[in-house]
Amino acid sequence: MSDKARWAGIYLLICFIPLFVYFLPPLSPEIMSHKMFTNFLVLAPYLGLFLIAILGWQVNQTRIFWSSLMLVGIYHFFIHSTEFFDVAATRARSIEIITVAYPLSLSILFVMRESQLWSDKSLTRVLLGLWPFLIFVGLYNWAPNIYQGFFFLAPWNNAQLFHIPTITLLAYILFLLVVIFEPEPKPKSYLIALGASAIPFLFCTQISLINNVSPLPTIKNFHIIVAFSVMTAILLHAILRMYWQKVYLDILTEVPNRQALDERLITLQHPYALAMIDIDHFKKFNDNYGHAEGDNVLRMVALTLQESLGERVYRYGGEEFCAIFEGEEAEKAHLPMEQARKTLDHKRFHLRQMDREKPTLIKKLTTKGEPKLGKEIQITISVGVAYSTPKTKYHHDVIHVADKSLYKAKEKGRNQVVSSEDKD
Ligand code: GH3
Ligand code: MG
Ligand code: MG
Repeated sequence: MSDKARWAGIYLLICFIPLFVYFLPPLSPEIMSHKMFTNFLVLAPYLGLFLIAILGWQVNQTRIFWSSLMLVGIYHFFIHSTEFFDVAATRARSIEIITVAYPLSLSILFVMRESQLWSDKSLTRVLLGLWPFLIFVGLYNWAPNIYQGFFFLAPWNNAQLFHIPTITLLAYILFLLVVIFEPEPKPKSYLIALGASAIPFLFCTQISLINNVSPLPTIKNFHIIVAFSVMTAILLHAILRMYWQKVYLDILTEVPNRQALDERLITLQHPYALAMIDIDHFKKFNDNYGHAEGDNVLRMVALTLQESLGERVYRYGGEEFCAIFEGEEAEKAHLPMEQARKTLDHKRFHLRQMDREKPTLIKKLTTKGEPKLGKEIQITISVGVAYSTPKTKYHHDVIHVADKSLYKAKEKGRNQVVSSEDKD
């Protein structure tokens, strides 16, 4: 399972926490009115969301910056809704409007490409993002009947069960499409967390709308605090993961980088094996087909190695990779390396530059079968494997021996694995 899928599953599970908390027996009024609740817990989502905004800005994700500030505003409104509007009906309408406008606004913020924080594009993004809120407020004020018909579309409406407007579903489907079709891999995890946070958010609005009719003073804000704390927690985790990836993942191939390898090497203890992997005649490939195609080859090799060797693959630098085998696996490291080499040997790299122009929608619809692929090229690797011994003090020594084995593999004609114990 990919890391992204694993975390998406964990986020989804965490997002159900507010529902469980709600159905637990209510806490006593003494606890609910305790200073910890009234002071600290209310503040926690504010602090977390402001932190997310700043962290987003620092990694050039202004879309995260603005969406997080929007969530601060929404949280503030939910917590203080009775102070904003003392008429229950107005309060309910405003919560309904936020429920529908928020996912629409998120879609607008994220569908626009990234920009500088202080730029015309950023200003346009914010103004367009505010539109759904303004449009629905206007609709409610000037045409309440149309508002009612539009928000609570008849065929799906079940007012007894769902106080949330039925149109929310469409708004979230639109946002999920934006999440799925986001072309940039960097904010993908954050968008997945935002998608999962729909569960606590919708639950919170549903309970707010129920309580709005007959407010129960002690638990009035508790569900809001729990829901927004959970949302903040997963969003904060998603953005911190973005930082973690920046430090430990290689930007081109998305396998762990040299930094991750160096930190891993320090912790290694005998017995372990190290494999140095080097792409054959890569300079020639770059010279013939260009660096952009070379980068694609690096991605393909990294993916193939990761598919056959799992999480033990690192990018050492340039066109060299490293794999680590520990404990019982160490002794037999030659075998999986030979399998990985064979897998790549049987694969073919398809040049993409030949048909560079993007396929138009009409072209896609009229072309039958598989899309046309460019010229096929065989890519091979040479591998040098070295083993630690009880006397090994420094991992540099093992790397040195692995390098020597790699050199032998190149000398013997490339596309092969040589282990340090192999005879010449
Ligand atoms: P050998 O079979 O002996 O390993 O030959 P080689 O050509 O692969 O070895 P050499 O070390 O001479 O060339 C390595 C090339 O790898 C040179 C450099 O242009 C290329 N390279 C290193 N890093 C990158 C990268 O990130 N992207 C691309 N496209 N090329 C890279
Ligand atoms: Mg090399
Ligand atoms: Mg090479």
